Amino acid sequence: MKAALLEHAGPIEDKPLQLRDVAEPTAGPSQIVIKVTACGVCRSNLHMVEGDWLPATPSSLPIIPGHEVVGTVSALGSAVRHLAVGDRVGVQPIWSTCGVCEFCLSGREQLCRTKQITGETLDGGYAEYMLAESAYAYPIPAGVSDTEAAPLFCPGITAYGSVRKAALSPGQKVAVLGVGGVGHMVIQMAGLTGADVYAVTRSAMHQAVAEELGAVKSYSPKGADGSFVPDASLDAAIVFAPSAASVAEAVRITKPGARIVLGVAEPVPGAIDIGDEKIIVGSVLGNRQQMREVLDMAAAGKLRSIHADFPLAEANEVLRMLKAGEIRARAVLVP
Ligand SMILES: [Zn+2]
Ligand SMILES: [Zn+2]
Repeated sequence: MKAALLEHAGPIEDKPLQLRDVAEPTAGPSQIVIKVTACGVCRSNLHMVEGDWLPATPSSLPIIPGHEVVGTVSALGSAVRHLAVGDRVGVQPIWSTCGVCEFCLSGREQLCRTKQITGETLDGGYAEYMLAESAYAYPIPAGVSDTEAAPLFCPGITAYGSVRKAALSPGQKVAVLGVGGVGHMVIQMAGLTGADVYAVTRSAMHQAVAEELGAVKSYSPKGADGSFVPDASLDAAIVFAPSAASVAEAVRITKPGARIVLGVAEPVPGAIDIGDEKIIVGSVLGNRQQMREVLDMAAAGKLRSIHADFPLAEANEVLRMLKAGEIRARAVLVP
């Protein structure tokens, strides 16, 4: 099969992904092989390909990146009962978890310390076929196309986890900082809670996307050109813009007692005023039940993904466009 293989990390301008012929995977008893039809392109893929993602990530080279994967089941292990060849399924970044630790047993399997990560510890979806654990593959609802569904598997579940942690109520005001692959879904899900959404982004293109998706207003952050949100005016903030300045902006614009949800690994500014009792909470992905709820929202027409589709062979170019801020919301590779 053809796969976009990462053999050595390097600047995306040097095209570190190589289109290679590699062996097709074979399914163990509990596993499935998926014929990939769509794979979303995540900013974390860009970081891994350039060699500045989490320590020891990927866990080994070469690796096939990609963790927002949709396709059809092409082969089944002998113990798989709930799926059939030809079923449309998707896989999120959580490839598998241990199933027995305190986090797995309490509905927080995204915190499992021994989880496998699609496209980081095991091969992912920048390929014609991918291996998956059947218990971590999700049926795609009828009416949601493959390329529409792919971004639900990382931006969708990531957005859902962050909006839940923001604990929004109808009529509250929430800032969404960063309007990319994840942010464009945060805006929609925050809107579904009945909160008023204020999108904060420098990009005029992303401001337009935010308002198209129901943000009541979009702003440039303070210090950038254009208008900005007044100090201490919002009930909550959700940050997916990858900059320390965005975290500082979230602290500035939120009221005392606000929740600030961080979906990016950026420093929190020093000297937080403890008298403000702000709650700053990290958020990563979500569990399998929450993933199903995201798919249900898309099936019900409450959530849509804005995506642009590209051939697998253009993976390097698509990652370069993402780095340059040229992608409106989500790019999807089609093998
Ligand atoms: Zn991702
Ligand atoms: Zn576990």
